[in-house]
Amino acid sequence: MLQFINLDQITPDKRSTRERKKDFHEIYKEFINEKAQEQSSRCSQCGVPFCQVHCPLHNNIPDWLKLTAEGRLQEAYELSQSTNNMPEVCGRICPQDRLCEGNCVIEQTGHGTVTIGSIEKYITDTAWEKNWVKPVKVKKELNQSIGIIGAGPAGLACAEELRKFGYQVIVYDRYDRAGGLLIYGIPNFKLEKFVVERRTKLLKQGGIKFIQNFEVGKDKSLYELKKNHDAILIATGVYKSREIEIPGSDLKNIFPAMDFLTASNRKGLGDKVKLFDDGTLNTEGKDVVVIGGGDTAMDCVRTATRQKAKSVKCLYRRDKENMPGSAREVANAIEEGVEFIWLTSPKNFIGNKHVEEVQVNKMILGSTDSSGRRKPEIQKNSEYNIKADIVIKSLGFDPEDLPELFSAKELLVSRWGTIKIDLNTMQTNIAGIFAAGDIVRGASLVVWAIKDGRDAALQIQKYLREKGIQKDNIKAA
Ligand SMILES: Cc1cc2nc3c(=O)[nH]c(=O)nc-3n(C[C@H](O)[C@H](O)[C@H](O)COP(=O)(O)OP(=O)(O)OC[C@H]3O[C@@H](n4cnc5c(N)ncnc54)[C@H](O)[C@@H]3O)c2cc1C
Ligand code: SF4
Repeated sequence: MLQFINLDQITPDKRSTRERKKDFHEIYKEFINEKAQEQSSRCSQCGVPFCQVHCPLHNNIPDWLKLTAEGRLQEAYELSQSTNNMPEVCGRICPQDRLCEGNCVIEQTGHGTVTIGSIEKYITDTAWEKNWVKPVKVKKELNQSIGIIGAGPAGLACAEELRKFGYQVIVYDRYDRAGGLLIYGIPNFKLEKFVVERRTKLLKQGGIKFIQNFEVGKDKSLYELKKNHDAILIATGVYKSREIEIPGSDLKNIFPAMDFLTASNRKGLGDKVKLFDDGTLNTEGKDVVVIGGGDTAMDCVRTATRQKAKSVKCLYRRDKENMPGSAREVANAIEEGVEFIWLTSPKNFIGNKHVEEVQVNKMILGSTDSSGRRKPEIQKNSEYNIKADIVIKSLGFDPEDLPELFSAKELLVSRWGTIKIDLNTMQTNIAGIFAAGDIVRGASLVVWAIKDGRDAALQIQKYLREKGIQKDNIKAA
């Protein structure tokens, strides 16, 4: 896989965040509209479209690039939306360097990729502007009903596809807003919230019902919900933060990433957030330490810089080549003044009631482990302390204990707690209950959640049709 950003070539901005008066939106300029045709015409229409192969949705990229190059934007939009329920979202936040663009033949020959994601975003944003994006129009209403647990991208994509068939669809979510991590996880500077909200509004206009502030397991058990529907999709995502078990973990001002990001997103949406408003989760003027090296950690450091933190440090126990997050995100963070301290692991949180310092160990990379990666090992006598007013832990997410939460002990899960499904039918071990998205894959990507949601819709339709045929057969008998 190609990594076309060389981090060594990026010079960190050494000024404190406070000193930098830049408007971050100006650093990453919007895709310039006039360039869409020019960029699209760079596509070589190669025989084997590797971009399409490596897009999880197998979007027909070469064809919509060709249509864009010819100025046939509405047709480009129709084609693009035929395989993707949220092209404008994917265009904004897919890690294209690992998917479509990283596999563009022009990129591989060293001439720089066609900017597929930006064009996808441009096409769909234009479609919204021109009123080409329409709610689902059902030709024939069917009386079968599907309950979807979780209004993230997997649940929403499945809901839209099922509604197109004419089914009655109800989406339940424990949050007050629909969108899942699109709304409360991913920061506004990567994905503006109006983009998500106009999508959910469109789904409502298409006849999909949403029941917010409804937590399955608390408000109803899985089986109680099942009684109201002919089929159920579980698309609840993964939300249990991984913990760091080191001394001092109970000190104040040490937070999981989602607490920090949710508070920031809620503020952006105009909500009152007590812990932000009283300064606890606001990093302005503070020395911030983020622990972790994935995309969520990058979202935390970049949110802190935007909140005008005094300093933002990111601790990661391996080196920069082995960071799990997107190279592009790391590059952006470096440009914005985040200090990366690679090969470093926290040993101790120090402070009197509140965290004041993080004692860290330096690490070296040892022998390769079973995953093929070199194992980080502690370098002897390498401890030193890093000042911290607030620590944000971003070590990844695990699934919650769904069989327990849903009062459905027999629901089969893997040893990691993800739901086990039959990969052909997407059905769990309980008849009529399907699952999709992060709760099946573990923490993944929006584009994969959309793909799973679409696949689940097809499988649910198949299941309901077969069920319908059986019913008819029984009647006939
Ligand atoms: C901070 C962060 C940044 C990310 N950035 C990117 C990115 O840039 N690009 C990218 O492609 N991916 C990114 N991801 C990953 C991406 O957001 C997820 O892979 C995707 O949202 C998974 O979709 P989903 O529908 O499976 O679950 P989610 O989006 O998590 O949605 C699950 C929904 O289920 C609801 N729910 C859970 N339990 C219950 C219950 N018991 N009852 C009712 N409702 C329930 C939740 O409230 C939530 O709304 C990021 C993830 C995080 C955490
Ligand atoms: S959905 Fe993602 S991977 Fe597929 S073409 Fe769009 S940006 Fe690329």
